[in-house]
Amino acid sequence: MSGERICRRCLLFESGREDVLLDVRRRIEKIPDNEKCPDEIYKSRLTLCGECEHLIDGTCLKCGCYPEFRASFLKQKCPSKKW
Ligand code: SF4
Repeated sequence: MSGERICRRCLLFESGREDVLLDVRRRIEKIPDNEKCPDEIYKSRLTLCGECEHLIDGTCLKCGCYPEFRASFLKQKCPSKKW
C-alpha cells in the first residue's frame, strides 16, 4: 500500500490530481461548441456526480470515465442514469 489517501465522492478538481485535471481541461477546451454541454447543465451533472457512490478519486467506477470530461458532452449520459 502506498498510504495515499483515496478521496471518495471527489471530483478531479477536489482530488488533488492536478496533472490529470490539467489534461482533462485541455481536452474539454477542444470539444466543438456544438457538442459542448451548457454550463448550467454541466454544473448540475457534476453536483450529482459529487453525491454519487460510484465516484472515487475523480473517477467514475461505473464506467471508468472522469465525470468532468464525460459531462462536458451534451449528448453523453450517466451510466447509472442519474443525468
Ligand atoms: S457519471 Fe453517473 S455513475 Fe458516474 S459518478 Fe457521475 S453520477 Fe455516478
